Amino acid sequence: MTGDWERWLGETRAHRKQEQLERQLLVTDAPAEPVARRGGRPMVNLSTNNYLGLAGHPALVEAAKRGAERGAGAGSSRLVAGHDPAYAALEERLADFKGTEAALVFGSGYLANVGLLAALLDRESVVLSDELNHASIVDGARLSGAEKRVYRHSDLDHLESLLREAASGRRKLVVTDTVFSMDGDVAPLAGIVELTERYGAALVVDEAHGGGVFGPRGEGYAHELGLAGRVDLDMGTFSKAFGVYGAYVAGSRAWIDHLVSTCRTLIYSTALPPPVVSAIDASLDLVRAAGELRPALREKSERFRGGLRELGFDTGLSETQIVPAVVGSNESALALARALDERGVLAVAIRPPTVPPGTARVRFSLMATHSDEELGCALAAIEEAGREAGLVG
Ligand code: PMP
Repeated sequence: MTGDWERWLGETRAHRKQEQLERQLLVTDAPAEPVARRGGRPMVNLSTNNYLGLAGHPALVEAAKRGAERGAGAGSSRLVAGHDPAYAALEERLADFKGTEAALVFGSGYLANVGLLAALLDRESVVLSDELNHASIVDGARLSGAEKRVYRHSDLDHLESLLREAASGRRKLVVTDTVFSMDGDVAPLAGIVELTERYGAALVVDEAHGGGVFGPRGEGYAHELGLAGRVDLDMGTFSKAFGVYGAYVAGSRAWIDHLVSTCRTLIYSTALPPPVVSAIDASLDLVRAAGELRPALREKSERFRGGLRELGFDTGLSETQIVPAVVGSNESALALARALDERGVLAVAIRPPTVPPGTARVRFSLMATHSDEELGCALAAIEEAGREAGLVG
């Protein structure tokens, strides 16, 4: 390594350490189960997005095994030879599930957002994006070269003023998470739909945390509100409530055809492996049929949130299965996460740039399959840990 690089690596690391921003990979066994293990220690897992507990479901594991009979890898991108019959069938089923003309599967949610925004936007267009949208949306908008206008979180007046300012004749696109990943609140979707219609903007929603959890059959938050037909492109991921990996974009045939021909993260990246495609296909059935898991998740989340509030924690505007305890400084968030770790609770400190400076937090994610006992133990540990970290009285 040259001296220049060595010096730079050392300096940037020292800076991260000083700002409490150094990150570490920690080995975790059973990372998507209600009780995970670190260093052999069982820990109540409040850090997984496996909201419905489907990741280890025997039907998904079996489907992945059956898929593996077709090979471990797809061998090429979708547009070369990777579009096998299982892919085609899955996309048809997905479009049916979502109630759209067409759907397109992507390698991951990150790839879907970056690719779709870069494919739809250019220097002639304007993108209007909630300030708390996921990093993949931020990166896609940046890559596209479009004029980027960021509106204050869920602020419809601000969004409207930016829409009004955007010159007419320019293509406008509004993009929002439906469930915000670090806050667990929901977008004011009815108002956003109305504004996009009034100002002739396209609307893209990211259902990463709404898919599987909301909607009569887990279609997502837009379906929950009866607004799905008024969304242009509905993006979501199979890596969270669906318990697998990969992502989709659903919409009218015209939008999807455009993506097939222009979306670089689709064109220049290998198709998902057959076991993953088969597991996604099986997860669609499980999610559709998860009529009891969805209310269970909602009820557990509400109770857990109530418990945190009673202890005096600030849970912000959370109203879903994602429940933050906002503590402010990076140091406090790390101290709380450490004290929780010592008490057998797996919950991660979330710091800038993932959240705005001064709003560091420990984020808890609930699962429909957490037992009451596990959640009770976790709340007792959170109370103790909060005291030790000097965050609750
Ligand atoms: N959008 C949102 C809102 C997310 O939270 C995430 C995952 N953290 C993604 C997109 C990316 O999805 P994936 O993990 O499948 O790449």
